[in-house]
Amino acid sequence: MSTDDEEGEENVEEAACPYCRSMDACAHLLLVVDITFRSAGGGVLYEAFEKRLVDSFENGPDDGGDIAFDELIEEVEGLADAEDGYVIDSPGMSSAYRAFYASTLTKAESVLALFGRPVAGVARSTRTGREVP
Ligand SMILES: [Zn+2]
Repeated sequence: MSTDDEEGEENVEEAACPYCRSMDACAHLLLVVDITFRSAGGGVLYEAFEKRLVDSFENGPDDGGDIAFDELIEEVEGLADAEDGYVIDSPGMSSAYRAFYASTLTKAESVLALFGRPVAGVARSTRTGREVP
């Protein structure tokens, strides 16, 4: 094959938001995860996801990392209104991604409230003297 002028063209099929058709991260995007490398890539739940994953690493069994990741994905799956999967192929490697969406911004907010519920220990940093339930 000598298709020199087409080599720079990667066959990238990225997910578009099913609600606003955005190819970039929009407010509907709850979470995008790299299934191949088991890491979160962005979205409304990204910070909460990372926090809960780290929490699972610290409090779970030594080999609990993969299980925690799967469990968190399952939870997001249950909260999301739509899901998309895609593969990014680049020379030498390809990654499989899954993206989760909420249908409305209000839904995205309530999902974040549910998923990012306070974990024990966070309240310790409060210095205002306010009672934390
Ligand atoms: Zn959107």
